[in-house]
Order: sequence, then C-alpha cells, then structure tokens
Amino acid sequence: YAAMVASSAEAVSGFWSDWMRTLGATDRIFSIIDDSSVPAKVSQTPLCLQGHIVIEHLSFSYPQRPQNLALSNFNLTIQPGEKIALVGPSGAGKSTLANLLLGFYQPNSGRILLDGQPLTALNLADVRSQMAIVEQEPSLFWGSLYDNIAFAVPGGRPSQAEVEAAARQANAHDFILNFPDGYHTMVGDRGVQLSGGQKQRIAIARALLRNPRILILDEATSALDGESENLVQDALERLMAERTTIMIAHRFSTIAKADKVVVVDQGTLLEFGSHQELRRTSSFYQRLLQNQHSERQVSLCS
Ligand code: ATP
Repeated sequence: YAAMVASSAEAVSGFWSDWMRTLGATDRIFSIIDDSSVPAKVSQTPLCLQGHIVIEHLSFSYPQRPQNLALSNFNLTIQPGEKIALVGPSGAGKSTLANLLLGFYQPNSGRILLDGQPLTALNLADVRSQMAIVEQEPSLFWGSLYDNIAFAVPGGRPSQAEVEAAARQANAHDFILNFPDGYHTMVGDRGVQLSGGQKQRIAIARALLRNPRILILDEATSALDGESENLVQDALERLMAERTTIMIAHRFSTIAKADKVVVVDQGTLLEFGSHQELRRTSSFYQRLLQNQHSERQVSLCS
C-alpha cells in the first residue's frame, strides 16, 4: 500500500504537489482553487532564504468581496528568526495575511519582500519549499503514519531514519510505536483515529522534515488536555527554534513565547510590541486578553 500511496503522490503534477506539500493538508487546497493566485515570474530565488520579511502598504480584498478590504495599508518588518504572534478578533485579517505570505493571492496594492526581493519576482515553488504551515486542525490523508510525515518533503522521499528523527523531535515517535503497526499504521477516514494533539504532532513532524526558514503556525482554538498540550507545545518550541515564525495565536502561553505581538483589527495593524509592553499600554490588547481568558479558561501569563 505504501508503494501505492507513493506512486499516486508522484502522479500528482509538480504544481499541485508543491501546494500540497506547503499546506501539508489537502482540504485547504480546495478552498483556494478558485483564488486569484497568479504564477510568479521565475527569477533568481536565493537558494536559501534567511527569512527576512517586509510587508509594505499591503491592501487586499478577496475577489468574491471586492468592496471589503480584508487588509488595509498593512506594514510590518520581521527579522530572520523572529517570532511574531498575530492576535486580534475573528475576521481581523490574520489568516489573510498568512495567505498572502504564502503567495496564494495577489495584493490589490503594496508588496511583500522576502530577503529584500519582491515575492512577485520570486519563483513561488522555491519560496514555498522553504515555508511550512502547521494548521489548526491538521488533516491526515488516508495512508500510513510514515507517509503522512514523509510526504511533506520537497525534492524526494526522506529516509526512515529522517522520518523517525522528525517524529522524535515532534514527540510523536512514542505514540506511533504504541500502535501495533507502528509507522505502518493506517490513518485517515478508514484508518485509526488520532486525537487532536496526536494529529498536531504528526503535522509538526512533517514541518520539521521540511526544515523551513519561514514557519506559519495557525494555532488551534480548542484546548487540548494537559499532557497532550505540553507535548505539542514542547514540539512546537523545537520547530520554531531559529526560524522566522508567524503564529496566528489564540493562547496566552503561545503569545508569551513571541518576540513581538502584532494586534490586528479590521485589516490594519493596530498595535505592535512585546506582550509585556502591550499589556501595560494597550487597552485594546487588555480587552482581547480578557475575552480570550474568559472564553478559553486559560491562565494569564505574566
Ligand atoms: P479568525 O480568527 O476568525 O480566523 P482572521 O483574523 O483570520 O479571523 P480572516 O479570515 O483573515 O480573519 O478574514 C478577514 C476578512 O476577510 C473577514 O472579513 C472575512 O470575512 C473575509 N474573508 C476571509 N476569507 C475570505 C474568503 N475566502 N472570501 C471572502 N472573504 C473572506
């Protein structure tokens, strides 16, 4: 079966497999199939991105709702290796920013620079091969756990040792070995059901294997149980280390790990600063924290 999965994966065109690997999830592809993404020009993409990001005067409306600016004159500079938490109310534009960074849509105006080069001048496949996204609720395709981790790697199948190393770092190796078939355990609709935390750790292993320079983390809003939460957080810390990370963050424990917090509201950057600074100076941020606190029953980080 593994061979079947592999050959069907290989049969996917380069274009689609690129997207799938970037996303690490097939279902999201279908929500963006009808987007306005225009293939970028091919030029001298740096072989290895440093992960420096500049977002300049970015404005964007979705093609289906041209009158509604999802992002409006958004400006932000992110240094290589910096961890940025995007926080804000629902509909503020956080996911939209991630979609534009991944090149899924073209801005109405403004631009994104990666290592000083406009995203539109770079080869998107090259850029995406150096990015990874860990989604809120990662979906696993029907296949073995091994294939679900290994599929993410651009440019060929990784070795068993590489897959296991990534799974260990993601705190997934032990639970995988607890299944009778270990890495050959089938998952997905017709396979074993994994808990939310286990799925997240598989997605983290996938992302680790890609070794991306830029990581986008869309944090789940629903809380995991204590032990699973700790294992996921621990794995995420390893994944984020030394990578430019943009977290769409909902929990204080995550927000507090960020170097800088960006408060987004109605498509604009409302506030920018450290968690501590914003807690002192921004009444909007304080309200946001209070709302999250009461909704999700998590403790406020000091
Ligand atoms: P949440 O925290 O709920 O995920 P968000 O901050 O990520 O919210 P976005 O999903 O970026 O917010 O949405 C920003 C705006 O764009 C909202 O007004 C939303 O309704 C709109 N929007 C998002 N996705 C689409 C889409 N595919 N088509 C049209 N409008 C969209």
